[in-house]
Amino acid sequence: MTMQDETRTRANEARTAAAPAAAPGSVPVTTVAVAEAGPPVMETGGVLTIDLSAIVANWTDLARRVAPAECAAVVKADAYGCGVFEVGTALARVGCKTFFVAHLAEARTLRGAAPDAVIYVLNGIPPAGSAAFADARIRPVIGSMPELVEWDAFCRVNAWTGGAALHVDTGMNRLGLSVEEATTLAGRIDGPGHGITLVMSHLACADTPDHPHNERQIQAFREVRALFRGIDASLANSSGVFLGPSTHCELVRPGIALYGGNPTPGAANPMRPVVRLEGRVVQVRKVGKGDTVGYGAAWTAPRESRIAIVAVGYGDGFLRAAAALGKERPHAVVVGKRCPIVGRISMDLLAVDVTALPEVSPRRGDWATLLGDEIGVDAVAPFGGQISYEVLTSLGRRYHRSWRS
Ligand SMILES: *Cc1c(COP(=O)(O)O)cnc(C)c1O
Repeated sequence: MTMQDETRTRANEARTAAAPAAAPGSVPVTTVAVAEAGPPVMETGGVLTIDLSAIVANWTDLARRVAPAECAAVVKADAYGCGVFEVGTALARVGCKTFFVAHLAEARTLRGAAPDAVIYVLNGIPPAGSAAFADARIRPVIGSMPELVEWDAFCRVNAWTGGAALHVDTGMNRLGLSVEEATTLAGRIDGPGHGITLVMSHLACADTPDHPHNERQIQAFREVRALFRGIDASLANSSGVFLGPSTHCELVRPGIALYGGNPTPGAANPMRPVVRLEGRVVQVRKVGKGDTVGYGAAWTAPRESRIAIVAVGYGDGFLRAAAALGKERPHAVVVGKRCPIVGRISMDLLAVDVTALPEVSPRRGDWATLLGDEIGVDAVAPFGGQISYEVLTSLGRRYHRSWRS
């Protein structure tokens, strides 16, 4: 356990001991810091606040939409940058029973937060890895015949009945047994001892509802499911949930929607925002008309301007691909007003044109909001040539982090 983990764990324990039990259905009126990590606020340039109550609200909302199907939570990549331990703790507490991660190491961290949960590892078993999965009570998602052969042999020799998912490829061509392989296998699976606890597939185009691929995959999976009668099935990711009941099966696997990303691109975002990123204003300087700001002299002041220098940059994972920004610019909210980010983003700094603010503001030490209610992860992503998933998983390690509920 690293020192950071330890601090986080202790903060969680303190919180568990001190928190009064919330009345069922009650809406919290204030937020409470559940855990803190990273350097102290004064010693860093950015503060990242993760609203666990929003994640819980998003999960509850999705669970209601798909009932009576079960709603799992995908918490790979450190819960999309939001902290797998904290997110796992919060979701397990409100009744989430099944989690998906990408690697066994992620599953181990999650196990500390959700001791009784069912945890699946999407990327499957590396060679000779079966024993490690069984030791940690983690279920692999088996995505190829060689993996299945190895897992089967391990289970037989060790009488292990801890369960595994079978991934069947219905058109993604990434992981999964072919439909033919699954069909052959289904004929050989009988009786309760086979150890397959879930049959799943993954949609390639769920975020484009009209894409013909969706119907093809839904139909193919319908046929696969029928071969594995009595075993739970799962097809939908976040966007898949919104394609309707034909994708819900017994279990859905949302990720991005839990963290506030829009699962219905092109329509209003039905999810609550989760992350707030604020950068410290290091100084405010005046530049004359025609002066340039930053590397490459890429922005020229069209008039005498006031520029706030903010202590967050691509070294924090913030819009790191935005070497040169075009005419359309991302914004920051400074003292309640949207102001454009100007010039190239540096490693540790960015510049915001605050000319529109009153002369006295912002002040050195004020905070500029770079992500939050007013600036969604989906809105920011295109400026860095990114998608919302990348904005979240790129969130830097230098920030002070605060989880609230
Ligand atoms: C990442 C992943 C998910 C979650 O996808 P979102 O689009 O984030 O909801 C679900 N299933 C599989 C197999 C995945 O790899």
